[in-house]
Amino acid sequence: MLLSHYARESNVGAIRGGRTVLIPGAFAYHRPADLAEAVALLGRFDSDARLIAGGHSLIPMMKLRLALPGHLIDLAGIAELKGARLEGSEIVIGAMTTQHEIIGDDLLAQRVPILRETAELIADPQVRYVGTIGGNVANGDPGNDMPALMMALSATYVLRGAGGERRVAARGYYRSTYETAAEPDEVLAAIRIPAPPRGHGWAYEKLKRKVGDYATAAAAAILTVSGGRIATCAIGLTNVAGTPLLAADAAAAVVGTALDKPALARAAGAATAIAQPAADGRGSAEYRAKMAGVMTARALARAFARARS
Ligand SMILES: Cc1cc2nc3c(=O)[nH]c(=O)nc-3n(C[C@H](O)[C@H](O)[C@H](O)COP(=O)(O)OP(=O)(O)OC[C@H]3O[C@@H](n4cnc5c(N)ncnc54)[C@H](O)[C@@H]3O)c2cc1C
Repeated sequence: MLLSHYARESNVGAIRGGRTVLIPGAFAYHRPADLAEAVALLGRFDSDARLIAGGHSLIPMMKLRLALPGHLIDLAGIAELKGARLEGSEIVIGAMTTQHEIIGDDLLAQRVPILRETAELIADPQVRYVGTIGGNVANGDPGNDMPALMMALSATYVLRGAGGERRVAARGYYRSTYETAAEPDEVLAAIRIPAPPRGHGWAYEKLKRKVGDYATAAAAAILTVSGGRIATCAIGLTNVAGTPLLAADAAAAVVGTALDKPALARAAGAATAIAQPAADGRGSAEYRAKMAGVMTARALARAFARARS
């Protein structure tokens, strides 16, 4: 299924010379012990190197020869990239934390519960056991669920390269499909999320054809309520354009309202208006854009109910 995801969405056929190519090209394997060594290896092999985390996006691309790295740099042995912690008012999640670990983490469940709800909608347990949050957000695949969430949460990505460390807002990270603000010699070390206020509302709504599928359309909503009205709101959209989208107009449409029907309809319309999905096996472009609006309305309604309860 994943192979067809890449083959179809990249417009590169899995068929070469009349047969399906499913064996990666030759590569040398490296397993650095720490981040500094990983960065040094990246610098040494330059564009011929590729980082590997859980491998659940990269290996299928290598099997299709959409990625042909001469050197694979495995991040699995780097302890400093694992786990989640609270630092002041920010939640910091190491890039090599798996989706499975995110689901089971008590701190995240209490402070950023939308992470668990979203992670539970990614693929299946087998994928989630090894697929990492870093690989999910660094990949630049608009079908991945975490990037839109990170935009809604106003997260920052911590990148480590030969020149040191820099931070890039998730909202400015995604440039086009598989193209991000990261430099080739940079490793995504961690994700920093300003902890949403206690009592905030949250929901991730994902329309998919079946368990394990990428989204036909999905929406993440984070909001706060004061005096029965929405005080702040942010909405991110998954898989309805070449990049994840921040639906700023949709969020603005509900701020100051008690989420009445006209406000919900305005938000849904604003989300549909910015969606530019491709037609694929999940539906026509028009249908998927419409579903971006429907998912937005559902996410808002659930987030609002949670904030008020
Ligand atoms: C059957 C199946 C169904 C799936 N369904 C979904 C789904 O519904 N939703 C969803 O979101 N995902 C889905 N996935 C993808 C899965 O979540 C991946 O595991 C994830 O997207 C990538 O994480 P990874 O750790 O496997 O990364 P990898 O595959 O190892 O890497 C992906 C890319 O990110 C780069 N990278 C990895 N880590 C870093 C880092 N720390 N710094 C810089 N670059 C890095 C790699 O070089 C590579 O280019 C599915 C996968 C499969 C196999």
